[in-house]
Amino acid sequence: MQQHIDSYDFTGKKAIVRVDFNVPLDENFNITDDTRICRAMPTLKKVLAGGGSLIIMSHLGRPKKVDAKFSLKHILGRVSECLGVQVQFADDCMKAAAQAAALKPGEALLLENLRYYAEEEGKPRGLAEDASDDEKKAAKAAVKASQKEFTKTLASYADCYINDAFGTAHRAHASTALIAEYFPNDKMFGYLMEGEINAIDNVLKNAQRPLTAIIGGSKVSSKLAVLKNLVGKVDNLIIGGGMGYTFIKAQGGKIGLSLHEDELIPDALEIMKEAKERGVNLSLSVATVCGQSFDNDTPRKIFPINDIPEDWEGMDAAPESLENWKKIILSSKTILWNGPVGVFELPNFAKGTLQIAEDLAEATKNGAYTLVGGGDSVAAVTQMGYADKVSYVSTGGGAMLEAIEGKELPGVAAIRG
Ligand code: AMP
Repeated sequence: MQQHIDSYDFTGKKAIVRVDFNVPLDENFNITDDTRICRAMPTLKKVLAGGGSLIIMSHLGRPKKVDAKFSLKHILGRVSECLGVQVQFADDCMKAAAQAAALKPGEALLLENLRYYAEEEGKPRGLAEDASDDEKKAAKAAVKASQKEFTKTLASYADCYINDAFGTAHRAHASTALIAEYFPNDKMFGYLMEGEINAIDNVLKNAQRPLTAIIGGSKVSSKLAVLKNLVGKVDNLIIGGGMGYTFIKAQGGKIGLSLHEDELIPDALEIMKEAKERGVNLSLSVATVCGQSFDNDTPRKIFPINDIPEDWEGMDAAPESLENWKKIILSSKTILWNGPVGVFELPNFAKGTLQIAEDLAEATKNGAYTLVGGGDSVAAVTQMGYADKVSYVSTGGGAMLEAIEGKELPGVAAIRG
């Protein structure tokens, strides 16, 4: 049975907590953005304040073997600072039993990178490129078998399990999902995880209407499942960014050199048809800021979105489109935003995306519920200083996308199940 972190009695208990400390490091292993560490603190502090001790586990980067570059030791100092206790370190996550057993209430132990072991992800490593199907199958079966031992060892360190790693909740890894079965009555979400789940529920399950989704980014193919799920749920679907041009081309528009995917045209037509049948207002860009090459200083010119000359490329939403979208945004009660409406990395083509961030902040001020997720959209609200002027900023890119595709995330299911 799932427990709640607020009512669970941590007195004298050891809690093993999966966090997402996969923070960016510079070449000298200094943390360049500690947001993920900070966001896990409420959960970690709650356990210590409740008289428990902590075994903290995470991955960092994508090591395929033990590799000092990816050691969690690099972040031990910062974690200790944030937590306000000197966190101990276990050099090998599989050999931490004695250290875990010796933990006293109020103490904390950070385990070395879980992904030093193939068993964390449950995927074979080091297979020869020309391995036969049988060899691949055997290697997969072997790692799956040893994954059980791996998971059991982690579980043996603690009395209860907390999952606070939303960023990896879409993965059925040992520490994010499988371990939960060893704590049938002592498993729970951390505060970050709970906040993320509630935010998504506020949009997909309990939305105040009108509900609007703004989906941007580069390709239809990477967000097809998202669009298909949302078109059955929202009142307004704004499609911007690179992916919009496939929809314009599908309608016979001239899009010049703009990004598009011909093979996705049937899907784009299907989404438009479904939107029409369901009475969903599907709003595409009407005018676009174009460039002649993919760089910041290329000449810029605005064209109607369906009449872009052959040697120009659509790179940002133009004011006319932004005005239409602003009206929709400000008349909505719930808004989900994922993906930039232009080439956000190039400052001359970031204006549209920054404008959406501003509109969302205004809508929030007027009482709408606003959820922002995805690298560039989060960067846009942060760059404008609006991160605390929207209702929720999601920390999990891939996990959030899978959730808005309508999938139940393995990390969530393992706690609830
Ligand atoms: P995604 O990861 O799918 O959210 O896509 C983000 C990427 O979409 C960013 O790197 C943007 O530069 C890119 N993008 C947005 N609009 C356009 C556009 N009109 N043309 C090319 N790339 C775009």
